[in-house]
Parts: sequence; C-alpha cells; structure tokens
Amino acid sequence: MIKISDITEMRRLALSWRQKGLKTVLVPTMGFFHQGHLSLMDMARSLGQKVVVSLFVNPAQFGPAEDLDKYPRDIERDVRLAEQHGVDCIFIPDASDIYNAQHQTWIEVTEVSRGLCGASRPGHFRGVATVVAKLFNIVQPDMAVFGEKDFQQLQVIRTMVRDLDIPVEIKSHPTVREPDGLAMSSRNSYLSPEERKTAVCLFRAIQLARKMIADGERNRETVVKRLYELIHSYKDAKVDYIFLGDPETLAENSHISPPALLALAVYVNRTRLIDNCIISAD
Ligand code: AMP
Repeated sequence: MIKISDITEMRRLALSWRQKGLKTVLVPTMGFFHQGHLSLMDMARSLGQKVVVSLFVNPAQFGPAEDLDKYPRDIERDVRLAEQHGVDCIFIPDASDIYNAQHQTWIEVTEVSRGLCGASRPGHFRGVATVVAKLFNIVQPDMAVFGEKDFQQLQVIRTMVRDLDIPVEIKSHPTVREPDGLAMSSRNSYLSPEERKTAVCLFRAIQLARKMIADGERNRETVVKRLYELIHSYKDAKVDYIFLGDPETLAENSHISPPALLALAVYVNRTRLIDNCIISAD
C-alpha cells in the first residue's frame, strides 16, 4: 500500500491508474477505523481495481465548540488496517495543503443541508461538501463509497454530484452495528462504560418506531413523542433531534407515509451520537 500526503503526488498516481484504464474507488474518512470503515473499504475493493482511502479530519466541518481537537486519532493503526483490507493507497493530506491561507470557495447544498444535523451543526455540510468535492478533484475516482450511517451526508453528496455534474458514481453501504445494535462510530470511544450502556437508546428508539409503524401508527407526533419518552428514560441521554419524514427530500409531514426515514441525534452527556433507518410499511 502506498501512503501519500502530497496532493500533486496523489493526483499523479490516480492519473497513472486512469491512463491504464483501472477503475478507482475512493473511500473518504476521518480515520480511527472501526468495522464500519473497513466494510466500506471491502465494498470499494469489490467495485473497482484500485482503492484509495482518504484520512482527513476536516476542520471545516467542525463548529467552534465541537470536538476537532480531541477527535480520536491513531494513524499507525489505521494504516495497518487499511493495508490488511487491500487498500492500494492511503491519502493523508495536511490541513494547510487542503485549505490554503487564502481559501475562499465553498460549496453549499442548500435544501438538503437545512434540517436534521444541518440545523444543529451550522456550516457542517458546507465543510463536508467542499472537502468531498476537493477530494474528488484530487483523486478523480470513478466511484466513491459512503456509509448510510451518515444518511444526510449521503444525500448532500448525491445532490452535489447531481447538481454540479461531477462524474463520480456514489455508492452507499448499510450501517455496521455492534452486537447490541449501537451504530459503530469513532466517537463511541468517548463513552465511559456507563454511557456506553445508555448509547443503546438510539437503536432501541429505532426498534420502537419500526414496531409502532408496523402496527399501523401513522401519526408522526405520536411516534416522535414516544421516542422522546423512551430516550429520556435512559440515564444522561438528551435528544438533539428526532426526524421522521421523507428520505429523499428530508421534509416532514404530520402523516407518516412509508418508506420513511427516521433519523436521530442524541447527546449522551457531552457525546453526540447519530443513527437512522428507513422504515417500510410492514
Ligand atoms: P467518518 O470517518 O466518521 O467520517 O466516516 C467515514 C465514512 O464511513 C462515512 O462515509 C461514514 O458514513 C462511514 N461510516 C461511519 N460509521 C459507519 C458505520 N457504523 N457503518 C457504515 N458506515 C459507516
């Protein structure tokens, strides 16, 4: 596996593969790999001939009061794991190269970025869209793989690619979970053993919503109210938002018409966790 931090070097390598007709798949990440990341790499491996994993903790997608400085990092371990999963190149650029001192160009995906995490984290998706567009320009992959765990992010990227005619095919991978249902996340490493027990409340909320809707409940407020009650019955859990609405437009309606997206963000003390699922009619 080749390890690159220089943008020009990355561009050259990707270009040499393209000239040989090799399909390149990009997996953008912020590192501190868990099985979710590794599954994306395995999927990328099956989709093309060359796999590039980018590892970049993108300052532009963190708010001033967020966890940029304490975001977990272990580059040596990440490099080892990527290599074990057949990755051809790991791209680890410096923030000062990605954002030059005069950087002033930003991508805003307006509608889809507005609600859910976009409402709680102003500027977050502008940072995400911009860095992903830059990574696409540097690597020029045929495809890119994203996790459904970050459902709104996936919709933001799909919308950007559509609107800006970016020639990259976007593939998604289902959420990888711990045995008790907790969605894997680098941020789970912040949780104390007691908080880890509380963290299962997101998955329990998903299960409850699935059951209520399968049993015929179609009133959004009724479902959302029950989910609030369930989550707040767990120690140190506080709902940031619960969204139940259209998976494409990310608009909410008082009547639930499956397939519906349930997406939620919950604080377990100071750690903010997200999860989601698509709920079908049965
Ligand atoms: P991150 O390093 O958290 O920015 O995530 C990098 C990529 O991995 C994103 O496309 C995420 O959606 C995806 N991802 C993160 N956690 C999971 C998970 N538990 N299951 C599947 N994909 C995930």
